[in-house]
Amino acid sequence: MKVIDVKAVYPRWQHLPQGVWQSHFWQIVVRVESDTGVVGLGYGGGGNPAVAVVNEHMKGLLVGSTVESVDDIREAWDWLYYKSLPYGRTGIPVMALSGVDLALWDLLGKAQGRPVYDLLGGLAVDKVRAYASSKEYLRDRDAGYTAVKVGTPFFGRDGEADEIVEAVASARESYGPDALVLTDCGMTWNGADTLEMASRLADYDVYWFEDVLTPDHLDELAALRPKVKPVLLAGGEHDYTHHDFAAIAEAGALDLWQPDITWCGGITAGLRIVDLARDAGVPVVPHRGGEIWGLHLLAATGCGELAETMPHRWTPPNDELWLDEPLAKDGFIAPLDRPGFGVVLNEAML
Ligand SMILES: [Mg+2]
Repeated sequence: MKVIDVKAVYPRWQHLPQGVWQSHFWQIVVRVESDTGVVGLGYGGGGNPAVAVVNEHMKGLLVGSTVESVDDIREAWDWLYYKSLPYGRTGIPVMALSGVDLALWDLLGKAQGRPVYDLLGGLAVDKVRAYASSKEYLRDRDAGYTAVKVGTPFFGRDGEADEIVEAVASARESYGPDALVLTDCGMTWNGADTLEMASRLADYDVYWFEDVLTPDHLDELAALRPKVKPVLLAGGEHDYTHHDFAAIAEAGALDLWQPDITWCGGITAGLRIVDLARDAGVPVVPHRGGEIWGLHLLAATGCGELAETMPHRWTPPNDELWLDEPLAKDGFIAPLDRPGFGVVLNEAML
């Protein structure tokens, strides 16, 4: 089949978090139409600037190309990456490319009547253990979750470090001794904070510290790794393509990699990142990996054992852009056996 149209849209989000970058440049939908009438839908990041990258540049590069195989998608990715390289390689242009790439995977899956995980070689695992990025510790534990992530930003306010210790202690107490407790620092800690918190949180058996520093501190992260063991350093949601992850591998900066499949270059980049991770002996635990885009990669490759979910996303009032998304059940989540990514777009939000 040939691509006859490509169109990106910024959905009418009503409930974005305020006062942060996401309130400006949140997720986009990309629609790729073929001459057989099959339509693929993808999910990228970058808001209106990413919409412009797709509609004003990538569309013209993609219309007329043939999509019959996984190799064709890989070729399209390389072409779009190369042509956008002078202004791209990272950030919003790659968030845009992610949406296009995911739409092509959805298109091929729908054309062949196969789930994306099947295009990737089939399920390596039937389901993935879900963790809850949520403060509703007791509610989520009672729903079957056995892993939780606690937000632990630190801006140096008086008493804030004590609040972090209290939050982690409360999560551990609520979930019990066998659960996994993770923390997300959102790039707000520094090296000294990390060492101090490793010591103050030692009693709570934290599995990983996520995003303690920024992606520009690979050598500093590599130096911290042995000092905070047995806590693992996780990160990568703000890194792009296999090129960034090759640098992370080279520096030995992280114990777990967390590419966001809707930002880092889609499934095509995700597969290349998984290959690098296998060579480096590191698990890949995609950011928001319980959303279908990362979940198909996780289930098909077995690249990691945890899928991030946000249980409050299904609590109104919330934007429901993708209908029929799989939900965590008894602490596990699995992609649906449906063509493509297997979800339905809520057209009312476009
Ligand atoms: Mg995070």
